[in-house]
Amino acid sequence: MTIFKKIINKEVPADIVYEDEFCMAFKDIHPKAPTHVLIIPKKEIPSMAEVAPEDKEILGHLLLKAAEVAEQLGLKEKGYRLVINTRQHGGQEVPHLHIHILGGRPLKWPPG
Ligand code: 5GP
Repeated sequence: MTIFKKIINKEVPADIVYEDEFCMAFKDIHPKAPTHVLIIPKKEIPSMAEVAPEDKEILGHLLLKAAEVAEQLGLKEKGYRLVINTRQHGGQEVPHLHIHILGGRPLKWPPG
């Protein structure tokens, strides 16, 4: 079981900023920006490489909620970045799909 599934199950504590039937958003334990939140589906999808047509609603839900959470965190006006690291070359460490919400400072582009 991944660490994120344990967070969903409330077996591992997390600083949860949003939760509903389909997703959960919580603060990243090692923040890479002044605001760094992860939003994850409750469904166990390992990465973007495994999404299926049946995941259309949950994927749309995640993006809509990411925008809402970003606003709730005060990031809307100046902006923010959503990142989905995917598998090895994408730098993914936890094999449970997650969107990073990063903000609170100007972010460089392109990534390393
Ligand atoms: P990835 O590299 O897979 O895209 O990102 C995984 C993220 O999960 C990392 O930014 C890492 O700091 C965060 N993370 C890993 N373990 C935990 C944990 O137990 N709790 C929380 N809140 N974040 C975690």
